[in-house]
Amino acid sequence: MLLVLEFEMEKMEKIKPIVLLHDEFTDSELATSLNLCYNCSTCSTICPVALQTEGNFNPRSIILLSNFGYEERLVIDLKPNVWDCSMCELCQEACPEGVNLHEVFIKIKNASASYLNIPKSYTSETNQVYLFGKAVPSQPVIEKRREQLGLPKSPSTDVEEIKKLMGMTPVEKILEDIENLEKLAEEK
Ligand code: SF4
Ligand code: SF4
Repeated sequence: MLLVLEFEMEKMEKIKPIVLLHDEFTDSELATSLNLCYNCSTCSTICPVALQTEGNFNPRSIILLSNFGYEERLVIDLKPNVWDCSMCELCQEACPEGVNLHEVFIKIKNASASYLNIPKSYTSETNQVYLFGKAVPSQPVIEKRREQLGLPKSPSTDVEEIKKLMGMTPVEKILEDIENLEKLAEEK
């Protein structure tokens, strides 16, 4: 009996972020905003990523799936991949219904992150910021080029301060968990 309970609790913990997201999308201020969507496609027409990917990524389909309860597909399968959104907010500005697309994308990204379901490019860049205080750390070749262009040396960064700030968010723990996962994969 105890084992069954433990199994159920473990299962609940695993699906919790998706359940919470579903609640947000069905019963909250955000849900009211989502319900205003009438599928006009203005957001997809204006989205620069949709244009670049010839519609493979498009914000309208994310809003549609969020409205119809496909949170698992959005968070776990990443189909469509919300991480492709550059958060430029053009879609939100253009939406005739004032749907809060930006907030929807953030919620889906956060739920995905709680499963460590984050593209490598994002985590590598975040790791660089954590370790060096910059997404692109200063290197001799960069400094040389700056000198040639008559630019001043790149400004230094207070790495400890940045680590402290990131430590106040879930980012530090996510980076640690991803590193452990990668080590485990290497050992296999
Ligand atoms: S522009 Fe707004 S109303 Fe139109 S499809 Fe996109 S989210 Fe829905
Ligand atoms: S915020 Fe994302 S979905 Fe909206 S227009 Fe920009 S890239 Fe496209």
